[in-house]
Amino acid sequence: MPPKRVRFKEDEERQVQNLHELSTDSVYGAVLLVLGCGLLASYLSTRLPAALTVADLERTPSAFIAERAWTSLKTLNDIGPKPVGSQANEVMAHEFLLKELDGIVASAHANQRIELDRQTVTGAFSTSLLNQSMTSVYRNVQNVVVRLAGENEGDGSAALLLNCHFDTVASSPGASDDAASCAVMLEVLRVLSRRPERTRHPVVFLLNGAEETMLQAAHGFVTRHPWAADVRAFLNLESSGSGGKEVLFQAGPHHPWLIEMYARAIRHPFAHTLGEEIFQLGLIPSDTDFRMFRDYGEVPGMDFAHIANGYRYHTRYDSMDFLSLEVLQRTGDNILALTRALANSDELAAEDRSVGGTVFFDFLGLAFVHYRVATGRIINASVALLALLVPLVGLARGRGRAGGFGEILREVLFGLVATVLGAVFSLISCTTIARQLDFVGKTMTWYTNTYLILGLYCCPALLAHCFVYMFLNAFYSNSKSNLTLGQMTQARLGGVNIFWGIITLASTMAGYRSGYIPMVLLVFSLASSTLNAVLNTGRTRRGWIAVHLAFQLPALLWSTNFYNVLVQLFVPITGRFGGSRNPELFISLLAATGTLLCCSYLIPFVGQLRSTMNFTAKLSAVTVLALLVACFSPLGFPYRDESMTSAPTPQRHYVTHTFRVFHDEQGLLQGTDSGYLFQEMDRNTRQTIEEFVVPGKSLTPLRQLYSCRQELFCAAPFYSLWHQMRFNNYWLPGPEPAFDNMVTMAYLGTEQLNVHTRRLTFAMDASIQSSIIIGPKEGVRLVGWSLLDHVPPPAKYAGRDGHFVFITHGLPGGTWNVTLDLQHDQPKKTGELVDIVVTTKFWEYHHMHTAEFEDLLAQFPSWAHAVPSVAVVSVFPL
Ligand SMILES: [Zn+2]
Repeated sequence: MPPKRVRFKEDEERQVQNLHELSTDSVYGAVLLVLGCGLLASYLSTRLPAALTVADLERTPSAFIAERAWTSLKTLNDIGPKPVGSQANEVMAHEFLLKELDGIVASAHANQRIELDRQTVTGAFSTSLLNQSMTSVYRNVQNVVVRLAGENEGDGSAALLLNCHFDTVASSPGASDDAASCAVMLEVLRVLSRRPERTRHPVVFLLNGAEETMLQAAHGFVTRHPWAADVRAFLNLESSGSGGKEVLFQAGPHHPWLIEMYARAIRHPFAHTLGEEIFQLGLIPSDTDFRMFRDYGEVPGMDFAHIANGYRYHTRYDSMDFLSLEVLQRTGDNILALTRALANSDELAAEDRSVGGTVFFDFLGLAFVHYRVATGRIINASVALLALLVPLVGLARGRGRAGGFGEILREVLFGLVATVLGAVFSLISCTTIARQLDFVGKTMTWYTNTYLILGLYCCPALLAHCFVYMFLNAFYSNSKSNLTLGQMTQARLGGVNIFWGIITLASTMAGYRSGYIPMVLLVFSLASSTLNAVLNTGRTRRGWIAVHLAFQLPALLWSTNFYNVLVQLFVPITGRFGGSRNPELFISLLAATGTLLCCSYLIPFVGQLRSTMNFTAKLSAVTVLALLVACFSPLGFPYRDESMTSAPTPQRHYVTHTFRVFHDEQGLLQGTDSGYLFQEMDRNTRQTIEEFVVPGKSLTPLRQLYSCRQELFCAAPFYSLWHQMRFNNYWLPGPEPAFDNMVTMAYLGTEQLNVHTRRLTFAMDASIQSSIIIGPKEGVRLVGWSLLDHVPPPAKYAGRDGHFVFITHGLPGGTWNVTLDLQHDQPKKTGELVDIVVTTKFWEYHHMHTAEFEDLLAQFPSWAHAVPSVAVVSVFPL
């Protein structure tokens, strides 16, 4: 017997309203649904494949074996920090890599041909960061390059490049950044070289030894190495985290065939156009070798990085202790498959490769979707339009005799207005809380316990949405409406569709490809409305709700996954946001947006609830509780060391024990001073230093120093410029540091090139990391120099213009000359041409640290990661 369809009699019409009411408890079901989807999405996004060991070799002879990569990684990890120029980087890491490669060559199949090259390279380029130009000079940096021959050999044969770097920043073993990538590449080479068949095209493996010094070794390879000319595509393996899945966050640019290849080859996808857009907007304070290959090699490629646990990036915790074989297995499976696919493809060598933008994303790692930007525009527009029309058609069909179409439109508008107002009020309430928390000094309480964000910001955001709904319900709902509560809610959901439709279309029209994020939400809503329209469930009691919720499950997995990934990505980044920006504000905006993304299709049910007071009271209570926990309990303390948790979340510090030497026009010593320079890496840095490191003393902002008004760029020991510009710097006078060497820039003489131009020649000595700042005085311009074929525009700092030059040495080199051509309008005397600041920077210089400096470093709490350095600044006018 077929199930009996529920039919309502005319005189039962009023009861229909009540029938469609939802019990107050159902709201908790909805909250649990969202949280449950969040947990499931989180599980799916952290799930890794089982690792293979050498025991699996017989069964899978051409598979990536994580255990072998792990062994390579262990040696690189155990060498410890490997800054460019250190013995660890230039000798120990090199020796290990060459030995490892010898082993690979020895075990390679007889059909394979492997060439090894050790490149020592010198060069220079200009770059721009934070809208400030600088020049990067490198001398004798080292690359280890391997070429695995392909079937099609000969001059100019198209090659695929794989790149990793084995150098690290100071004070970090760099297991994830980026030794693990090098270990993965060695294993990929091992696997490929043991097969009897060659890949069609050669594969070049670049293990580069100077990435952390602003991508210098990659520049050296791409501009100077003979094999670079053959490279037609590259895979760059990086890390800004520790562990987890590698994400494809940049591809191309404008080479859709790369994404097609990824879609075909990859076993475990994790790739988002959103990532590419976030990175290219400069929201991530990092850069990768991708830039060098793209800009100087004009080669398309793909940029991969591990982004989980960014807390450990560039700290002592970036060690193997926090990695696992499974991490290597996953990345290895993907990179091996992609290398095979690319190296065997027609596209690699093809002259007429497809060009254009691509939209790409994975759905929770389970499926990968990609299409051209033009297709994306059509998809977005069609979905937005259909998501508006289908619910209207469905409602019109199901409205019966009583409800008018005008009433439906009125409720659609209600849904749209409520969503917009809810979004506005949630942003206002979240940013208000953010400002207050920062004002009372309770900043970044969620840094370790990110779930506090749910209570501190997501609950208030949800509350704001509920209140807007209750307010509009009370004042603008139509009590004479003939629609049932269910029909009313469905119409309002149509309003939510319009909201996301507008967002999708606006972002698409603004040229952002990330419009696919709301578009996917619309697709699920569209699917449920279509099914509801087909089944005509509109008038049945709750049938349509079941259909709606069934499609909300994947939608919630999609939206909560974005929330998870963005929180995981950006919370650790607030630890290197600098002290001048309020990270609460940023995270509160993220939480409000995430709440809207996750809950927009549930909020209209508020209008169907029998009572909302109980729920809003509880949400308020959770917010208050979260505020109390964040502000007054140890759970709200932002930082943790390894004794407190298995996943440490340290606070970052850079301290430079500095000695400054000032000279007069004749080059005679005019005076010296010394002290410590601190960099304010996050909102709480200054407080930590003043409370723990130098109690009773207060730090002076660098720009307030007398010397800052007098000297070029404050005569501060600037290293990369980028860091110093980004972060506030503080000075504390202190005793002199000890040092056993320094970079000198000895003035050799002047040559008059013409009436208005003089050439100054200097001899540079000592192979230590350093920087020089050249500040032409008023009426003088630097028009040429021996460092580059052009002079990039000067950078600006503390009211002065200066040409910033960053100088790195890999292997030590001899004395080298630098010339500066200075043009002046009026005749100039000595001392009136230019100010020069030379900074020598010693990293990993522990053996020379003074007792006072060690004492100071010992004051840092255990949950801090302090990177010490010693600097000598020499200032002279000419
Ligand atoms: Zn790196």
